[in-house]
Amino acid sequence: MKGYAMLKIGEVGWIEKDRPACGPLDAICKPLAIAICTSDVHTVWEGAVGDRHDMILGHECCAEVVEVGECVKDFKPGDRVLVPAITPDWNSLEAQAGFSMHSHGMLAGWKFSNFKDGVFSEFFHVNDADGNLAHLPKEINVVDACMLSDMVPTGFHGVELADVQFGDVVLVIGIGPVGLMSVAGANLRGAARIIAVGTRPVCIEAAKKYGASDFINYKNGTIEDQVMKLTDGKGVDKVVIAGGTVDTFASAVRALKPGGRIGSVNYLGSGDYIKIPRVEWGVGMGHKNICGGLMPGGRLRMEKLGSLVARGHLDVSLMATHVFEGWDELPKALEIMKEKPKDLIKPVVVLEK
Ligand SMILES: [Zn+2]
Repeated sequence: MKGYAMLKIGEVGWIEKDRPACGPLDAICKPLAIAICTSDVHTVWEGAVGDRHDMILGHECCAEVVEVGECVKDFKPGDRVLVPAITPDWNSLEAQAGFSMHSHGMLAGWKFSNFKDGVFSEFFHVNDADGNLAHLPKEINVVDACMLSDMVPTGFHGVELADVQFGDVVLVIGIGPVGLMSVAGANLRGAARIIAVGTRPVCIEAAKKYGASDFINYKNGTIEDQVMKLTDGKGVDKVVIAGGTVDTFASAVRALKPGGRIGSVNYLGSGDYIKIPRVEWGVGMGHKNICGGLMPGGRLRMEKLGSLVARGHLDVSLMATHVFEGWDELPKALEIMKEKPKDLIKPVVVLEK
């Protein structure tokens, strides 16, 4: 089979590999559509997960099942499925403790294009098929389905980590595709006001449609100063961090009310330490909680999030701004993600409708 791979740091290309073997609990799938993620760019050009040789890229797709192991109960060849970017081992002790994403090691639930070949391939392997796949609802097209792999569950997990409640004033830092889904998630959870930090016009337009009411441009002064101005010096109840750097946390702590909560789903690619401002953190006693986490993955979550899209509560169609057709267009789609033209939110490649 052919796959599009990271050959080494900074180099990509097509390679030939054997089709993966299917264990008793596993499934082998072929992608129907695939989406490119900023993480793919981090992985290849920044070497963010370390050096990898001939590793097939990609962790966002929807697919058709082509083979299942003898113990798989709920999926069969020909089924169309949602595929989560995070595919935990559900019988692990970490999963039993409620942290499936860290099954068998920190962040080890992230397997595609990290610990094994990813989905930019004619065929790919899914562990624990009954626990990780979800049936693709017929109301969702293959392009929108790709947003359910990572963008929706990660953006929404930021909202869960921040514990957004009815009537909260929420600050969302970063409105790339993940941050946009955090805006949408905060809105669904009943936030009264959503202040979004971002500058790209295409993202600001989408954020408005997803429920953002106020916008902050970090080029016009510090985030915290602008938040204080917008909130008459009160600050916000919750912060979701979906962009920025290790220094973003200081702004988030300063913008937050005592008793508030920060949910971070940002992938911090560089920097050794995160600094917390002592005074604004209540000299250590401010009850300003900071939670950072990888989304949990798994079938139940995919089914629930899929039903939000299928039943019309969440419109992800604003996300795929660049849609290509056929495997030959994949290198171009990845290149576009790297170059990030002004009008880009997400590139998707459709393989079969
Ligand atoms: Zn992703």
